[in-house]
Amino acid sequence: MTNDRIERIVILGGGTAGWMTAAALGRTLGATARVTLLESEDIGSVGVGEATIPPIHWFNELVGIDEATFVAETKASFKLGIEFVDWTRPDHRYFHPFGQYGVNLPGVAFHHRWLKARREGLDMPLDALSLPTQLAYDNRFAKPASDPRSILSTLGYAYHFDAALYARYLRGLAEARGVTRVEGKLAHVERNGESGFVTALVTERGERLDGDLFIDCSGFRALLIEGELEAGYDDWSHWLPCDRAVAMPCARVAETTPYTRSTARAAGWQWRIPLQHRTGNGYVYSSQFVSDDEAAATLAANLDGEALGDPRFLRFTAGRRRRAWIGNVVAIGLAAGFLEPLESTSIHLIQSGIVKLLALLPDKSCDPALADRFNAVFSRDMDNIKDFLILHYHATTDKPEPLWEYCRHMALPDGLIEREHHFRTTGRIMVETDELFREASWLAVFHGQGIVPRGYNPIADTFDSDTNRRQVEQVAGAIARAVPALPRHDAAIAKLIGATRAVA
Ligand code: FAD
Repeated sequence: MTNDRIERIVILGGGTAGWMTAAALGRTLGATARVTLLESEDIGSVGVGEATIPPIHWFNELVGIDEATFVAETKASFKLGIEFVDWTRPDHRYFHPFGQYGVNLPGVAFHHRWLKARREGLDMPLDALSLPTQLAYDNRFAKPASDPRSILSTLGYAYHFDAALYARYLRGLAEARGVTRVEGKLAHVERNGESGFVTALVTERGERLDGDLFIDCSGFRALLIEGELEAGYDDWSHWLPCDRAVAMPCARVAETTPYTRSTARAAGWQWRIPLQHRTGNGYVYSSQFVSDDEAAATLAANLDGEALGDPRFLRFTAGRRRRAWIGNVVAIGLAAGFLEPLESTSIHLIQSGIVKLLALLPDKSCDPALADRFNAVFSRDMDNIKDFLILHYHATTDKPEPLWEYCRHMALPDGLIEREHHFRTTGRIMVETDELFREASWLAVFHGQGIVPRGYNPIADTFDSDTNRRQVEQVAGAIARAVPALPRHDAAIAKLIGATRAVA
């Protein structure tokens, strides 16, 4: 390696993105680079990202997180998926599970066999073929098994955690690995007159943090990537019109449920995230269709327990930074863009930004081809997630409120039109190999939102009707038998952290 190696990295921001990046860089680069993080306690962080999706396990492995310590320190609970209430139409609910439907059998994806069996008279809901869904609804939890012959191999899971405790936990890990934290407010940015590269961040107290590479984790402010480098922003609010949220935690009143709940409301939707010590709640809404006061009142009227604290309001614009990497500045987290939290994708986008950065780690010259690659892959990830979110909003019936009317009739992105066409005609789910949401997720939401396929993959007809039906019923039977034998969710948490009183 030449002496052009990056030796000094400065991270601006100590929210979830800043500390995840610091923990990962500290662990991966070790003594080869000095990592400094600047954060301002006065400004604070958004602190509301509390639900995750299964790829969080890669990140935990990358930074060497011990699951029991992590679950204890962040007051986490397990998450088997998301329950969507009143989304498709009033008084309807469906579940987006983590894990697969049915089992892997040779020939064709399992759901085509279910579609064929249904066409031939089998009366069985799709949920009967999902172990995570059945476990979630019975308030139970188990971890996936690696043996593909076990029905437990069809499970996936993630976590809910307290965002403030998570940032504190990551900070501990990062500092233990040599990351230096500087408290202070950014006052100005020094740049190289010729290359335009950022050379240092200067705080209001006059500290100068010089670096070879700068990571912008300054949240919605995007102080480096937009404030300095004017990357530009693709505004997607015509597809995702929610632009505000009000958050209000409440006391936990019952067993913790191993899933997030998302309940559609007149001008958006409400989240419910169960933690060991409290329940997180928020109403994500469109300011075109409801006032802040009305949104807060709706949220307050729909809590399970006593409110803990005043309502906290947040504003955002759904969209993506046009270039998240410019010169020697890489934006990670909210600074790179935001898709609303309906499918809990932001923390995932942070970790996937970190993994991409590590794979493309530049030398001091910061080859623009590396930035181009990063930006292309990041843009594609955001695009695909955006289409998945739009599906939830647009495929609805019998919802007369103006937000839902608007979403039902809005023009859709071409990629989503194409996916929907394939599902409606033959039940096929088109996903590329590197997409975040896989077949089971699209199936859950297409089906849950009431899109009914007219056919199925003809390969399902290579199974005779009786054999096909019997095998589909056998899988549902194996799932139904497995559920009552598995632990209650709270018992699974208590066992992991080794102290039943922690979840009493
Ligand atoms: P922030 O948390 O805003 O951190 C920015 C940091 O920059 C702070 O430390 C701040 O002090 C620092 N900073 C800013 N300006 C300066 C300055 N001038 N000088 C020094 N420091 C400065 N994601 C999920 O994955 N799951 C969810 O369930 C989820 N729910 C969400 C709900 C809502 C309503 C919103 C808005 C977001 C949600 N997210 C969720 C997204 C998630 O909260 C963020 O992705 C995550 O918290 C990362 O934020 P961040 O670190 O990029 O920004």
